[in-house]
Amino acid sequence: MGEKMKEVGLYIHIPFCRSKCLYCDFNSYPCREDDAPEYTEALLRELHAYQERYNFVYKTVFIGGGTPTVINCRLIGEIMDKIAPRIKAGAEISMESNPGTVTFDTLKYYRSLGINRLSIGLQAWQAELLGELGRIHTTEDFLNAYNWARESGFDNINTDLIFAFPNQTTDMWKETLDKVVSLGVDHISCYSLILEEGTGFYELYKEGKLQLPDEELDREMYRIAVDTLGSNGYLQYEISNFARKNMECRHNLVYWRNEEYLGVGAGSHSKLEGKRFWNYKDINRYISLAAEGKLPVEGQEELSADEDMWETIFLALRLNEGLDMAGFNSKYGVDFRTRYGSQLKKLAAQGLVFIESDRLKLTKKGIDLSNSVFVEFA
Ligand code: SF4
Repeated sequence: MGEKMKEVGLYIHIPFCRSKCLYCDFNSYPCREDDAPEYTEALLRELHAYQERYNFVYKTVFIGGGTPTVINCRLIGEIMDKIAPRIKAGAEISMESNPGTVTFDTLKYYRSLGINRLSIGLQAWQAELLGELGRIHTTEDFLNAYNWARESGFDNINTDLIFAFPNQTTDMWKETLDKVVSLGVDHISCYSLILEEGTGFYELYKEGKLQLPDEELDREMYRIAVDTLGSNGYLQYEISNFARKNMECRHNLVYWRNEEYLGVGAGSHSKLEGKRFWNYKDINRYISLAAEGKLPVEGQEELSADEDMWETIFLALRLNEGLDMAGFNSKYGVDFRTRYGSQLKKLAAQGLVFIESDRLKLTKKGIDLSNSVFVEFA
């Protein structure tokens, strides 16, 4: 066993999906579920290697993908068995799911493993839009998954939504938000479509077959989300994330607070002891390295103090709680107000940031122009 106990967030990547959604650039492979047992074996080896090397305690766990629910649920059971002794009491243990790949029994099983937060990908309420996004499920599948999850004892459920994609009107977006709010979902993530190279949408776009909404519509839809969710009791605790009281995603807060995390599985990223490192994305390579008893790490970089400070700043500014300037000073041994004095003055004069109780925060305008705020601190 390694040295002193270290509390980290743990991310576990399951890179399988039934088919590829048209907007998706995650590290996920369609129709490769047959490789899941071998992949899980590799994952267990990787976890074992880290657990031998470090005395980790997992303060949060997130099983993501891909689609963790597309593989045999017993494989998730094996993973949970491996990490269970290292999970901190009361930790949030999340798993992503696709509504087309769960049953009441599998959800009950996941819950019995100790998984206590379920994220259900919905994206849009309207059947025609689900088809256009390349989703494999219907609205009814989502409703079944949601009801079964509640009946199985999940009292912390997230749903992911997308806005500002082709053919989605503001009325459709409002309807999607109203429906999930009326169900009483605990946490809602809303991201606008980003056209990524290598996706099905990107190909259509290049062929001139995809009409993208303009920036103005994108912002209007964002404001609809902020207003609708805000007026229904959801706290916007991060630029794109909304939660009922005390239902913030603790695992994502590990990232946004720039704390340490271990990522295992193909393509996962980790941040530990001032270093960032990442695994090979390719499943075959990942499996064969694990079989040879090697860590599947493709690359790593040491973060300079400046880079780390910048990350801490821009991640914290994404949060409603903002940047704790006193905490920053003691972490880095600098005086934030002195070091970034000119940026603070300029951004405050432009109405993009403000200080409240020694915390630096974005204004509403700052949220709209967040990227231009972040670069000021780079
Ligand atoms: S289900 Fe999720 S990970 Fe899989 S292709 Fe669709 S968006 Fe990507």
